[in-house]
Amino acid sequence: MAQIWKRLRGIWRKRCPRCLDGPIYEHGSKMNARCPVCDLMFERELGYFLGAMYVSYALAAMFLGTFMLVVYSLFPELDLGYTVLIAGALFLPFVPAVTRYARVIWIYFDQWAWPERKQ
Ligand SMILES: [Zn+2]
Repeated sequence: MAQIWKRLRGIWRKRCPRCLDGPIYEHGSKMNARCPVCDLMFERELGYFLGAMYVSYALAAMFLGTFMLVVYSLFPELDLGYTVLIAGALFLPFVPAVTRYARVIWIYFDQWAWPERKQ
């Protein structure tokens, strides 16, 4: 159980899935190619982060669904088109974070499913 919390904390802090210490992102949206602590290669192959798109889609759907529920509960008489538009506008500031966390979650999933051995 403690291992799960360590993993979740690693995802939250955007740390390497193997050592849980090295930062995945150098700064902003610039990723490190390898973990500065344990040398794990983050992008294993060309097109590796295509899988992160599925994670990004799920995260975006959760955000947009939540925002739509909030807008609908505040303004139940509002047209559905405007509700979607407002939810989309509310989601825009979260797009960079969703993109970054989608990659982090994808790297964690990939390392869980197909762990890379230390060379
Ligand atoms: Zn590492």
